[in-house]
Amino acid sequence: MLRSHYDFAIVGAGPAGSTCANALLLEGASSVILIDRARFPRDKICGDGIGPGVITVLEALDLEHILDGYRRVTQMVMTSPLGGRMALNDSEITGQSPLGYVIRRTEFDHALMTAAVEHGCADRTGWSLEGAEYADGRWRLDLAESETGELCSLTADVLIGADGATSRVRRLLGQPFNHDKHVSVSMRILAQAEEPYSARQELNVEKELPIPGYAWNFATGSGTVNVGFVCDTPTYKADGRHLREILETYKGLLPDTLAYDEATRHSQILPLASQMPPLAYPKVQAALIGDAASMINPLTGEGIFYGMEAGLLLGRGLARAAKTEQVRARALLQYERVFRRTFTGHFRGNYYLRKLLERPVLFDRMLRAGARDPNLCCDCIEYMMGNESGVGRTPLYRLALRTMFA
Ligand SMILES: Cc1cc2nc3c(=O)[nH]c(=O)nc-3n(C[C@H](O)[C@H](O)[C@H](O)COP(=O)(O)OP(=O)(O)OC[C@H]3O[C@@H](n4cnc5c(N)ncnc54)[C@H](O)[C@@H]3O)c2cc1C
Repeated sequence: MLRSHYDFAIVGAGPAGSTCANALLLEGASSVILIDRARFPRDKICGDGIGPGVITVLEALDLEHILDGYRRVTQMVMTSPLGGRMALNDSEITGQSPLGYVIRRTEFDHALMTAAVEHGCADRTGWSLEGAEYADGRWRLDLAESETGELCSLTADVLIGADGATSRVRRLLGQPFNHDKHVSVSMRILAQAEEPYSARQELNVEKELPIPGYAWNFATGSGTVNVGFVCDTPTYKADGRHLREILETYKGLLPDTLAYDEATRHSQILPLASQMPPLAYPKVQAALIGDAASMINPLTGEGIFYGMEAGLLLGRGLARAAKTEQVRARALLQYERVFRRTFTGHFRGNYYLRKLLERPVLFDRMLRAGARDPNLCCDCIEYMMGNESGVGRTPLYRLALRTMFA
C-alpha cells in the first residue's frame, strides 16, 4: 500500500538509485520510495561492463549473490590504430583481479531494484517524475503513470536525483547540463556469437573510426556480445558521420560470426565527471547521484561503480542522520565532501590520461609498454577502473615514463 508521504524519495531506480535505497533501508530507514519511469526489468544503453569496484559495493550491501552464476571476465584487450596490442589475462594476474564482469543491465539493474523492494522500499516504477517543488520544508512530487498518463502526487522530506544522464531533478535544482566538451556520445548494439567465447572485454581505437574515441566488444561468456562506439561530442561533430555509420564501420572490422539484433541498436550521451554539478543541496534537502551528477569516468566511460558508491555513501549518511532538517543538511554536505575527497583526484588523473592518450602515437606506446609488463598493465587497468586505492598513482608515473622513453 503506497503512502502519501515518505522520508526519502529517490527518482531513478538504476544502479545509483537502487543502491541508495538498499543502503538507506539496511541502515534502518523505513520510509523510502523508488520512482522510475520504466517498468523493470528494463534495458539501459551501456557496455554492460561491471567493474571490480561494484563487487565491493555489493559486498557492503550484502548483495554479492547478485553476481552468482555470471562469469568473471578472464581477458581484457586494448588495441591501437598503429598496431599496438595489450592483453591482460587472468592467468597473469598475481594479486587481486582488476577485471569484473559483463552482465546485461536488464538483469543487473532488475536484481538491485528487486533487492531494494524486498528490503521494504515502496515501488513506484512505471511512473515518471513530471515536476517537483520544495515548500514548507518538504518536497511535493508530481508523477505520471508512463503508459496511461494517470497523475498522482506525493510528498517527501528528502529528494534524491538518480535519474540518469538527462536528469529532470538536476534541472529542477537549477543545474545546467554539461558543456559539449564534457559529454560523450555513443551507440551500442547487441549480438549473439555463433560459438560463445569466454567472458572478455576488448577496446579498439581504429583508424577507420573518429579519433579520439574508441569502440568496444564485450562478451558475457554465455553468447551475448555488446558492441559499441563512444567519442566526445566535439570529435563527433567534426567527423560528420552519423553514429550509425560509425557503428556499421566497426561491425565490418569484427568477425562475421556475430548475429546482430538491430532492435537493440540505440544511442545515448555520457555526461563526464570532468564537469560535475554540486552534489548536495542542503537548503532544499536534496542530492544528486550517478549520471544525474555526471559521475562518469572521462577516460573509460564507466559510471556504474561511481554511481553505486555515491548511492552507498549518501544512503548510509542520511539513514544515520536524525530526522531533523539541520542534521540531514550536515549529512548531505558530508556526502559531497567525502565523494569529492575520494574521487576528484581520480577523475582528474583519468581526464589528463585521456588527453595524453588522444594522440595515437602515445596510446600505441602505452599499449606496447603494458604488453611487456603484465604487472604494470594490471595496475593501470585497476587505476582506470576506479579502484586506485590498491595501487595509488605510482602506475601512472611508471606508465608515463615507459611510454615516453619506449
Ligand atoms: C553506450 C554506453 C556504454 C556504457 N558502458 C559502461 C560500462 O561498460 N560500464 C560502466 O560502468 N558504465 C558504462 N556506461 C555508463 C553507465 O551506463 C552509467 O554510468 C550508469 O547507468 C549510471 O547509473 P545511474 O543509476 O546513475 O543512471 P541510469 O542507469 O541511467 O538510471 C536512471 C534511471 O532513471 C530513470 N528516469 C529518468 N528520468 C526519469 C523521470 N523523469 N522520472 C522517473 N524516472 C526517470 C530511468 O528510467 C533510469 O532507469 C555506459 C554508458 C553508455 C551510454
